[in-house]
Amino acid sequence: MCGIVGYLGQKEAYPILIKGLHRLEYRGYDSAGIALINGGLNVYKRKGKVAELEAFVKGKDISGPIGIAHTRWATHGEPTDENAHPHMSQSKELSLIHNGIIENYDVLRNELINRGYTFNSHTDTEVLVYLIEDIQKNEGVELSEAVRIALNQVIGAYAIVILSKNDPDTLIAAKKGSPLVIGIGEDEFFIASDATPIVEYTKEVVYLNDEEMAVIRRNNDLRIKTIKNQDKTPYIQTLEMNLSQLEKGGFEHFMLKEIYEQPRSIMDSMRGRLNAKKGIVSLGGIIDYEQKMVAANRIIIIACGTSWHAGLVGEYLFEDLARTPVEVEYASEFRYRNPVIYENDVVIAISQSGETADTLAAIELARSKGATILGICNVVGSSIARATDAGSYTHAGPEIGVASTKAFTAQVTVLTLMALRIAQLKGTLSKSRFQQILFELESIPEKVEKTLKVSKRVITIAEEFCQVRNFLYLGRGYNFPVALEGALKLKEISYIHAEGYPAAEMKHGPIALIDEEMPVVFIAPLKGVYEKVISNIQEVKARRGKVIAIVTEGDHAVSEMADYTIEIPETEEMLVPLLATIPLQKLSYHIALMRGCNVDQPRNLAKSVTVE
Ligand code: GLU
Repeated sequence: MCGIVGYLGQKEAYPILIKGLHRLEYRGYDSAGIALINGGLNVYKRKGKVAELEAFVKGKDISGPIGIAHTRWATHGEPTDENAHPHMSQSKELSLIHNGIIENYDVLRNELINRGYTFNSHTDTEVLVYLIEDIQKNEGVELSEAVRIALNQVIGAYAIVILSKNDPDTLIAAKKGSPLVIGIGEDEFFIASDATPIVEYTKEVVYLNDEEMAVIRRNNDLRIKTIKNQDKTPYIQTLEMNLSQLEKGGFEHFMLKEIYEQPRSIMDSMRGRLNAKKGIVSLGGIIDYEQKMVAANRIIIIACGTSWHAGLVGEYLFEDLARTPVEVEYASEFRYRNPVIYENDVVIAISQSGETADTLAAIELARSKGATILGICNVVGSSIARATDAGSYTHAGPEIGVASTKAFTAQVTVLTLMALRIAQLKGTLSKSRFQQILFELESIPEKVEKTLKVSKRVITIAEEFCQVRNFLYLGRGYNFPVALEGALKLKEISYIHAEGYPAAEMKHGPIALIDEEMPVVFIAPLKGVYEKVISNIQEVKARRGKVIAIVTEGDHAVSEMADYTIEIPETEEMLVPLLATIPLQKLSYHIALMRGCNVDQPRNLAKSVTVE
């Protein structure tokens, strides 16, 4: 998920690789490492920043005209020196860097352990480099063929580069799901996870496609084939973007990039955890606590901010699907409230950074009362991940924009998987209904992709309302938390005052605010309490409020009443938040942009709230 750099040419590789890692720092990472060949293979890796790696290699042999370098964002195994990349094969002849997740690493690892291998890290990556060497030795094939065979056994996402001590003139790269680009210079090649480390040396690049591998040799020898062994002609493109555009993947801001990453990040949250055809939902991290969750009288979710909104969606999910009562608490209130907690309560703490001070304090309190505590965090090895009994990572990848977007949808995805698993164990859903939801969940990334195509409409709405002073967001059921999150997003980045409410609560107060100046966003999919929401819309229209409605594709009733509508694809009711959130994120983004606000770093806000 983070950064890869490779170099093969006539120059010293080290300065190019280190500079490349610095160029990729904007992505966020937790450790860095490098491998170089100069006679021998030298591998150096360190938890922490690239600067720490630089300090560590001072005085060591860093020479050589070929090398690979990596910044890691841990998914399997905490950020430690051992888990940092590059990883070496058992014989120490091969060195490999990897971005992504090998879903079936556990099965492969056990097979290799049975064959006598011992591992030095907890990563999924080390399994792959061992497997490649095992195939190379046992089948007596060339390294590139061993890589090809190994990749056919791998399920998951990868961008990899391999360096072999015995072949200082070759780099082998491959990708599926995670990006990889090859830069072609004069008598030299560059490899990187995006073009930022490459652009100052060459503008000629080849983007690898999924399931393609490249064998790169000296003397301008670049060969590409698929892992099914079909030769491909390299398609050379000329880069036209500047560095800062490149860092943001061509987007103007990190927030927008992260909004657009959601089909991918939601998929990564489900990676290796969901198989609709086989009716399997399994969250490895909480397997040992599943029975506790089944037996729990109550689940208490503790969180702050956007994570608290994800928790509210979790409340609907667990109650609806698994029939377990849920309470969702602000961590900051919970910790000072002398709450009633029983031993058979299960507490779920949610935090993107895993460092939220109030949530950590709430965990300590719950622990002192004997509750079982699970975590849902994005940052592997973070304080909350360590303070909880077990948990599931969201695997959304680093989030740089301060206002959370992809981390929220990843949290909701993990909560959905958890609720479905507990429902399966408790038997609260029929088998066919369960499977139906699983299939629908699998199709969500594709539907998010479709939902992202609403820009034109959203921009028109943003233009109309970017100068207003207040906004109201209304939704019911699963979409009540979506309304809260939509309002929070607008507040955070555009500084417009916005309130989220359950739609029916409007008449108990907020209706007094409605006049022809007040835009009201309704999340009104063709589900559940649709008819009731229609009445709420009528109430707003009767007071000349302006209605912006998020509706299901093909909707008529709401569309006829609303001033503006944004369509989202049809889906199961409990999955609507994953779609309906998307246009609201985009609306906030465009309004903030039109008001000239700093979208990625809104005033007064911090990404990780480590103070109470
Ligand atoms: N899954 C690998 C690990 O945890 C790679 C993570 C990354 O993409 O940086 O080491």
